[in-house]
Amino acid sequence: MKTELLIGGKWLPASDGARIPVLDPATGQEIASVASGTVEDGLSAVDAAASALPSWAATAPRARADLLMAVFNLMQERADWLARLIVLENGKALPDALGEVKYAAEFFRWYAEEAVRVAGTVQTAPGGQNQIMVLRQPIGVSVLVTPWNFPAAMATRKIGPALAAGCSVILKPASETPLTALAIGALLEEAGAPPGLVNIVPSRRSGPVVSAMLADPRVRKLSFTGSTEVGRRLLAVAAESVLSCSMELGGNAPFLVFDDADLDAAIEGAMIAKMRNGGQACTAANRFYVQEGIAPAFATRLASAMGGLTMGPGASEGVQLGPLVNAEAVDKVDSLVSETVSLGARALVGGSRPDGPGFYYPATVLADVPSSAPVLAEEIFGPVAPIVTFAGEEEAVRLANATEHGLVSYVYTDDLARGLRVSEALESGMVGLNRGLVSEPAAPFGGVKQSGIGREGGHEGLLEYTESKYIAVNW
Ligand code: NAD
Repeated sequence: MKTELLIGGKWLPASDGARIPVLDPATGQEIASVASGTVEDGLSAVDAAASALPSWAATAPRARADLLMAVFNLMQERADWLARLIVLENGKALPDALGEVKYAAEFFRWYAEEAVRVAGTVQTAPGGQNQIMVLRQPIGVSVLVTPWNFPAAMATRKIGPALAAGCSVILKPASETPLTALAIGALLEEAGAPPGLVNIVPSRRSGPVVSAMLADPRVRKLSFTGSTEVGRRLLAVAAESVLSCSMELGGNAPFLVFDDADLDAAIEGAMIAKMRNGGQACTAANRFYVQEGIAPAFATRLASAMGGLTMGPGASEGVQLGPLVNAEAVDKVDSLVSETVSLGARALVGGSRPDGPGFYYPATVLADVPSSAPVLAEEIFGPVAPIVTFAGEEEAVRLANATEHGLVSYVYTDDLARGLRVSEALESGMVGLNRGLVSEPAAPFGGVKQSGIGREGGHEGLLEYTESKYIAVNW
């Protein structure tokens, strides 16, 4: 298992020898440590990426595609091993981890397929005097910063399109989950990635290390996935070098259920939208708005489904809900729930943290949640479903849009016209219409408002790593 920094094709300790302890969230115990990169290490990684860039940018698209397909195949072969590694450092239940590895690998396959389809355009200028030729060129050295909640998928969703477009990268993974990122680095190496094409620098000193890399004029791109708060700070840093930024930030997804919805489908969708990764997803349903007629039945059924989940160490047989990522996450969820209950909400199931080791919090459903409750305004990032009732469509849309976030919304209704009308009115980059899962490598994933800038996945995800070059041609 690799635990050093990957820079220029070599596995190196941090220049000052510092290391990051990695904890198993199921026990709170240290399971490994990885090198914690310094500013100097970050800049060495930029050197390596800048050296690798020209030949990779000139590599035939088909050869780039072959590398991505080779690493897709390796990820498929090692899926079980990788999933167990994710469980060890992230805590999520094994079925969630296996789902993540499959999803993560698909980004390599999708971008292997896209690498050969980076088309420019040619058109005649409106005045007819010349041709407008537009090339799509690789943007250059890209700094990728990822969170801990999908340690494999958030990395491949960036590395895949960057490599397909002809860019070299430096990945700074989250300190909670660096092992998965390093394992993906090793797979890329095994698949034949040339030295310096993919560099991986975990660091506990994220602020200074990332800022130093962004200030280096050879870096031309920042792709960040994480909280809105850190995203805002990084946008300010990137502004100094006028860097191209793709930002996948926090969410606060509304989940709307209309009286005419198919209740079985709504419960099934709610369980996926709420409980994938134990609620630790940017796409997690954060606020359930349920129409008055169906609300009592929905709340009872959701409480029963949530209460029926088996909680325990992620890798244990039959476990559906693992621990949260760390002690702070449990403290935050616990205080949001206590505060909501003190404001008059009722816990239909769950509602208090268990005793014992590990960072556990049970599946919780809160009914009669007042509109002023902070649980509706903040990203919960845990297995808690607050339910609010509404009377009509207009009110539902108004409540759903009353947030600075706009990543994803979910709508359940059997009236397709209403479903499409509401989907259009919702201020979010994505909508799940009668569907609790939107994540899909072939689709443009991303948010509006303070949930982000740009898209990952689909063809759009690749364009984020290219620049248009316009050549005015007389021929
Ligand atoms: P975070 O913002 O705390 O950290 C994200 C990454 O940024 C980590 O690698 C971290 O080490 C690094 N970082 C922290 N401070 C930094 C700084 N000052 N300079 C440079 N880098 C810094 O987020 P997290 O807790 O790891 O992840 C959870 C958040 O990520 C949630 O808000 C979630 O919604 C969001 N998220 C968004 C998406 C999306 O696609 N929109 C996907 C997954 C997670």
